[in-house]
Amino acid sequence: MFLTRVTKFFLHEMAPSEGSSPACDLLETWIELETTVHGSPDAQTGYILDISQIDRAVFETVAPMLAASSAQHRSIFHTLPTAANALAHSLESEKHIRLHSIALDLSPTKRIQCLLTETRPHSPLCTPMPQPTIEITASYEFAASHRLHCADRSDEENRRIFGKCNNPNGHGHNYRIEVRCAVPMGSTGAFDAVDAAVENEIMRRFDHRHLNLDCPEFAKLNPSVENIAKICFEYLEAALANAGLQARCVRVHETPKTSAIYPATQF
Ligand SMILES: [Zn+2]
Repeated sequence: MFLTRVTKFFLHEMAPSEGSSPACDLLETWIELETTVHGSPDAQTGYILDISQIDRAVFETVAPMLAASSAQHRSIFHTLPTAANALAHSLESEKHIRLHSIALDLSPTKRIQCLLTETRPHSPLCTPMPQPTIEITASYEFAASHRLHCADRSDEENRRIFGKCNNPNGHGHNYRIEVRCAVPMGSTGAFDAVDAAVENEIMRRFDHRHLNLDCPEFAKLNPSVENIAKICFEYLEAALANAGLQARCVRVHETPKTSAIYPATQF
């Protein structure tokens, strides 16, 4: 089971940096660090871990490292794996838990996460060492119209299946797309690469278009949110691979209440 705790602290040691993007330096601000640990609840307390232990460990390890990193203008891409390892070392004196990840929002649309995945030991004598991996999630919006319709079914059946979404002249949505990908260690330009891939592969194709009429991808494929997510992932996967990034998944929100994630993965 996972337990997630958000710990809030202020980065007060940072000197402001000019012209830095959120991908490079943390701005002087409150940080909300999300810590996720893996373990089993204690039979009596029902706790995996006392959340005050997580807060204390974050204050003592991650907060000073992020403050120093920010003051020295070091990239968060370099600092987060080191901070995750230090936090894991601090928390895992509790033998029954394992640090799964730490994550923070660099802006309202950009999130960075460091996951600790346990690797197989080289020999039976070695204990497995957790290896940090970085994943980022960036979100964007585009506006498009569409019509859900199956040509081989009657008008009445189409209205029954799709309701208002079968309106003959279509209707519009403000779609929000979240792109999640793995970043090689040492890389720092990943957000710029995702921005460029989304601009080239998604915005140019679908933004302010009628998906059925303007986009060949949906000439014969119903532009449901499920199909939009799959098509977006397939375009982005190739473009991100060219930039050295591994696409994990794409989540497309058609409305605040409805979204699709492709491929099926923990988001
Ligand atoms: Zn719709």
